[in-house]
Amino acid sequence: LFISFEGIDGSGKSTQARLLAEHLRAQGRDVVLTREPGGSPGAEEIRALVLQGDPDRWSARTEILLFTAARRDHLERTIQPALDAGKVVICDRFADSTRMYQGLSRGNLRGLVDELHRLMIGIEPDMTILIDMDPAKGLSRALSRQGVEERFEDFGEELQQAMRDGFLALAGEFPERFVTIDGGRPIEDVAEDVQRTVAKRLNA
Ligand code: C5P
Repeated sequence: LFISFEGIDGSGKSTQARLLAEHLRAQGRDVVLTREPGGSPGAEEIRALVLQGDPDRWSARTEILLFTAARRDHLERTIQPALDAGKVVICDRFADSTRMYQGLSRGNLRGLVDELHRLMIGIEPDMTILIDMDPAKGLSRALSRQGVEERFEDFGEELQQAMRDGFLALAGEFPERFVTIDGGRPIEDVAEDVQRTVAKRLNA
C-alpha cells in the first residue's frame, strides 16, 4: 500500500505522516516512512541543490526536471523495493506537490509536469491524504519551526492560498485516491481521522 500526504507548508502533514507510521508499526505492520523531495541518497542531494541557495538558480523547467529526477531515484531505490516487499510506504509529499508547486507557482506548467510524470514515474499513490489548512495558520506554523534551511518558507500567504485552492481542486480531479482532512484541529483529532481513513482502506 502506497500512501502519500499532501498539503501546504505548515499544514502538519509531516507530523501526521509520522504519527500514522507509528500507529501502523504498533499494529505490527512493516512501514517505510519517506519524504520528497528526497527519500533516497541521490534524491536528498537533489533536494539540497533545489531548496538551498539562490532561488533563481534554476529555471522553472529545469526545476521540474530536477524534481522528476529526484522522484525517479526515490522510486527506484526506496519506494518500489518496499512495495515489492509488501511494505506500507508512507510518503510525505509526492507528485501532487510537483503538480502544485512546480506546476502552478511559476506560470502554468502543469501539462509539462504531467507529461514527465507519465514518461518517467508512471505510478500514483493508492491513497493521498490531503491535510487541508488555512494558509495564515499554516504559515505561522511553518515560520515558527526551527532551522528554516529552505527558501520556500518565504513563499508568502498569497501563494500558499493558491496552493491550498490548487490542492483542493486536485482532490476533486482524483476523487478515487484523495481523502481531504481538516488540519485546523488538534493534532490528535486529525491523527484519529487519518487512522480511521487508512483502516477503512486496509480492511477493504
Ligand atoms: O514538505 P517540506 O517542508 O519538506 O518541503 C520543503 C519545501 O519545499 C517546502 O517549503 C515546499 O513548499 C517546497 N516544495 C516545492 N516543490 C515541491 C515540494 C516541496 O517547492 N515539489
